[in-house]
Amino acid sequence: MSFDFDLFIIGAGSGGVRASRIAASHGAKVAVAEEHRVGGTCVIRGCVPKKMLVYGAHFAEDVHDAARFGWDIQGASFNWPRLRDVVLDDVTRLEGLYTQTLNNNHVTLFPERATISGPHEVTLTSGKTVTAKVILVAVGGWPTIPNVPGAEYGITSNEVFHLDALPKRAVIAGAGYIANEFAGILHAFGVEVTLVTRGDRMLRGYDTEIVDRLVAMTTAKGVDVRFDFPLQGIAKQEDNSLIVDGGDQGQIETDMVLFAIGRSPKTQGLGLEHAGVAVDKSGAIIVDAHNRSNVASIYAVGDVTNRVQLTPVAIREGHAFADTVFGNNPRTVDYDAIPTAVFSSPPLAGVGLTEEDARAQYGDGIKIYKSDFRPMKNVVSGRQERGLYKMITAGPDEQVVGLHLIGPDSSEILQAAAIAVKAGLNKQAFDDTMALHPSMAEELVLMK
Ligand code: NDP
Repeated sequence: MSFDFDLFIIGAGSGGVRASRIAASHGAKVAVAEEHRVGGTCVIRGCVPKKMLVYGAHFAEDVHDAARFGWDIQGASFNWPRLRDVVLDDVTRLEGLYTQTLNNNHVTLFPERATISGPHEVTLTSGKTVTAKVILVAVGGWPTIPNVPGAEYGITSNEVFHLDALPKRAVIAGAGYIANEFAGILHAFGVEVTLVTRGDRMLRGYDTEIVDRLVAMTTAKGVDVRFDFPLQGIAKQEDNSLIVDGGDQGQIETDMVLFAIGRSPKTQGLGLEHAGVAVDKSGAIIVDAHNRSNVASIYAVGDVTNRVQLTPVAIREGHAFADTVFGNNPRTVDYDAIPTAVFSSPPLAGVGLTEEDARAQYGDGIKIYKSDFRPMKNVVSGRQERGLYKMITAGPDEQVVGLHLIGPDSSEILQAAAIAVKAGLNKQAFDDTMALHPSMAEELVLMK
């Protein structure tokens, strides 16, 4: 049988672009369809512009603290449209680079929506059908909208980068990555932020003690954090302000509601049923370790599989898929000890097991080491915030099975330390390493 392409990828996000480039380098004839903008969630409306806003937000504290470092800064003010436009311009620049990558690798780009119309066939919005030996679904995810009256008055992370003006007040619903990151960003920009969460804890999956420290610091900065808040609806008032109904927890008047309650695989209307592709109850495509669905010619990588919703993971999955299917080099992705970070204010980062998980796995065979310190910069600035580093070891050799940090630059610091955890080093190896003084990272080798 002959096909138009060896590989047709739906979605030019992190996973799709990597898979296209590697498959093309193995000699495959590749096409990609993208209905929005090349780059996908991370580049266009996720990690990249978010991190730029985090940098912008940091100036609020730096400007405030400057005086004690000898700098007099009069009349400092924040200009949202300026930062927004610089960020959006850079997103456009990156989109250009991603498109260039496709062009350089002779990947055919269809800038339109594609749906699956058979095991080897996709149909484009234009009505054109295209055949391929292999189809890779890399369409990512989409913000979940709560099923409550007035949900249409809320926005998601898709829209927050484009606000015409910052609201005076904002309610953020959720307790995960996006909620905590935008609580820090918006608060720094002068927005009165209320964070409402349905449960009694934030950032499930992160070490409780580290998360508790974040909640304490977030609250101390002035963010109103409300746990056990049952979001029941949103109503719009005549002056365009919003009333968020929290049932027995009362109402909150606000000017913007940001939903950050997770992301769902974007498989609705994708035509998976035309090829008989199996999905789970969240709509995620079910794949094996080689990213293959139940249909032999259809694969999926990234958020659409709802395994680990992280860009570097999608990239590795896309790469492993291309090497396996087109490079004669079957590879699977190693999901063990993935370092992750929340770019909250301050950031927190972790790799390996939390104390709770380690206790469940090793019982009394674990040891906990900590360093609770006030960063030198905070001492000079008079800021009371303290960092907390926590190491969890298991077994008589005291292998480091978990490392969890909160404090300035913790995401930068953890990436290097994660190599040691991934390599299976023990506490002694950390102790044997000379401290780099004075730094925050030296606390890693000084933990007691
Ligand atoms: P998360 O998956 O991080 O968290 C979702 C939160 O929403 C949870 O706290 C959950 O609460 C709560 N929730 C879920 N359903 C409901 C509901 N129906 N009503 C009220 N609350 C609800 O979601 P995000 O939207 O913050 O982020 C989506 C994904 O994007 C993340 O999983 C992450 O993988 C990725 N991401 C990663 C970033 C990074 O690496 N720094 C940054 C931003 C996003 P509960 O705990 O009670 O279930």
